[in-house]
Amino acid sequence: MKILVSNDDGYRAAGIASLRRALSELGEVTVVAPDRNRSGASNSLTLDVPLRVIGVEPGVHVIAGTPTDCVHMAVSGLFDFEFDMVASGINDGPNLGDDVLYSGTVAAAIEGRFLGLPAVAFSLCSHPGETRHFATAAAVARQVVSGLLAQRLDPRLTLSVNIPNVPLAQLKGFKATRLGSRHRSQALVPTRDPKGEIVYWVGPAGAGDDAGEGTDFHAVASGFASVTPLSVDLTRHAALPDLAAWLGALP
Ligand code: MN
Repeated sequence: MKILVSNDDGYRAAGIASLRRALSELGEVTVVAPDRNRSGASNSLTLDVPLRVIGVEPGVHVIAGTPTDCVHMAVSGLFDFEFDMVASGINDGPNLGDDVLYSGTVAAAIEGRFLGLPAVAFSLCSHPGETRHFATAAAVARQVVSGLLAQRLDPRLTLSVNIPNVPLAQLKGFKATRLGSRHRSQALVPTRDPKGEIVYWVGPAGAGDDAGEGTDFHAVASGFASVTPLSVDLTRHAALPDLAAWLGALP
């Protein structure tokens, strides 16, 4: 069983080392990951410059590109073998609700799915300043991936797994969830560069808004690992009849 592991926090991140170790018990793991933190890269491909691949140790390859570049290249010709699945993470921070549209962690999994492989993204719901319980997320990852290898799911699905940042003994189990949503982001954070010019940091994500029972937010807040089946079809199907009527009535 050949497992491709990638992430968006970069190849030096604690989370990817933890995922690599956990999945090595289940198959042959190859890491192809960005050279630095590319969180928020979403589904971006580098098309304007060629990409170099650096082998940093046996089974670990680094690319100065995005998470999507890494998975795309790994599955589309970098190796003389085929992968059986893609696992991404473990992200240092949650990917709940709207986050999945920005997430490079989720994008790496979605790229694997686009290329026909079962794919799953893992995110630890850590917050700045907290102790990171990557061991909890790694145990969850091992269980979910061994499940995926044993019993295939609908190949159109990408799974996004969010794990509460708690010791393993405090984890309550799994919940199948839908994406909730966040309040709008907090405001820009202005500061000064060394020359006194004003620069801005993008502000933190908003708190959970649609975060009730059944959502990913609710599961994690209740101590469960949240497993959301993602589809890439962003169409709001329920709105089609109203939209068609609206278009028919255009002046
Ligand atoms: Mn990240």
